[in-house]
Amino acid sequence: MKYWNPEIETMDTETMKSMQERKLHNMVRLAYHHSPFYRKLFKENGLSPADIRTLDDLTKIPLTKKENLMEQPKDFILQPTEVTLRKTLPTSTKLRAAFYDKLMSMQKVTSELKEEYKPVMFVVSSGRASGMPTPVFYTKKDSEILSECGARIGTTIGGTEDSIFHIAFPAGLHMAFWQCVAASDTIGALSIRFGAGMTDKQVLIIDKFGVTDMVGVPTYTKHLSEAAVRMKEEGHDVSFSNLKNVLCAGERFPEGMKKRILENLEAVGADCRVLEGYGSSECKTSFVECAPGSGFHLHPDVHIWEILDEKTLEPVGEGERGVLAFTHIDFRGTVFLRFLTHDVAERGIVYEKCECGRTSPRIMSPIGRMHEYSTKINIARVKGTNLDLNAVDDLLSEIPGLEAYQAIITKTDPKDPYSLDEVIIKAGIEKGKESDIEKLIISRIKNSFEITPSIMSIDTLTLEDELVEKWKAVRVVDLRGV
Ligand SMILES: [Zn+2]
Repeated sequence: MKYWNPEIETMDTETMKSMQERKLHNMVRLAYHHSPFYRKLFKENGLSPADIRTLDDLTKIPLTKKENLMEQPKDFILQPTEVTLRKTLPTSTKLRAAFYDKLMSMQKVTSELKEEYKPVMFVVSSGRASGMPTPVFYTKKDSEILSECGARIGTTIGGTEDSIFHIAFPAGLHMAFWQCVAASDTIGALSIRFGAGMTDKQVLIIDKFGVTDMVGVPTYTKHLSEAAVRMKEEGHDVSFSNLKNVLCAGERFPEGMKKRILENLEAVGADCRVLEGYGSSECKTSFVECAPGSGFHLHPDVHIWEILDEKTLEPVGEGERGVLAFTHIDFRGTVFLRFLTHDVAERGIVYEKCECGRTSPRIMSPIGRMHEYSTKINIARVKGTNLDLNAVDDLLSEIPGLEAYQAIITKTDPKDPYSLDEVIIKAGIEKGKESDIEKLIISRIKNSFEITPSIMSIDTLTLEDELVEKWKAVRVVDLRGV
């Protein structure tokens, strides 16, 4: 099967635009009447729901920042009361309640409203350094959207009801894991719901069950692929020959890392594609490429995406670099209008029809992200030079023999803010090549960035364990003033 939902996925652009405008107008009404944050925001800015009817009207609404969510997560949940409900209920529901047997119909209406508005689960928003994580709530209606978009994603990467999915995203409070479970159930495939960890066991299961499609965070997937190679070298009869698609999401995914995963998987008999996905807890679903480098297919019935200039936060043109923002147009529970992500799409958003036939807009990869809510986005000033942290990640990912790494920007005396900046590379290096590779790291960083790093050699497995323990491996980290 090529498309899960051809009506939406191949919709012509005019129909898509009018669908989005209709949904946007409705969502703005819901947010205005039922979300304390947006009601206040609209009033403070002299806006009313009637002001937002077309896609162009969207920019009248001020952007929502991640800090707003962290300060008052509850205020983003749609919380209808009897009074505000009357203002937003569709006329058809009101008529039903009025005309049919009052008791029966009210019960039915109430249970429908519960499914629509009552939160039934949450995932957590990443990036909060300490304290309680920030929850993003889903209602039953939202779970259905999660499943529907999941099934579209599963089909886009090539999954069918005959697939055997292996889910190695961390379980618990992370959206990606639950969306994969929902996707597999909706498609009707068999899924192995493993989560991250117990890596050697995962390798054996992928082999024994003949897994066809595997999903996980890039750092963990690389870790797992290395474990498979090691186990084969140790004499286990490991074969991933059924594996066709590997989907990684959840953190930056440098080309060097993709290549490494592919080489490892080929070494254990796989003939597969490595695809990338994008998503966040806040936007409440994920998006995938249909082929390597195609861009992430969006779900036009669920969000409106914008791409903005990083400095002015004004919209940029098709295919131009910018920071991403989205507006929910169909979710309930926690909802956002113009949420600024701090994810930078280097090649922007494109609207032309994809080779796969889908007409949904695509966010082009790569997407740069550093600290989830750093205002500096990707650039840090180190020793008076502008250092592009994503470029450091890319460069390190391509050094052969450097099996695991973390670049740390710090001060020579961490307690003294006036001491010199220092770049330390924690490096897990292939055995026997330590001194050559250390020299190579220093010379490449120095040639590209005019900064001489110090190298801290660490056992690869120890460093990988340290990195994969976290949901998002932070391979480049700026510790100054954090
Ligand atoms: Zn496509």
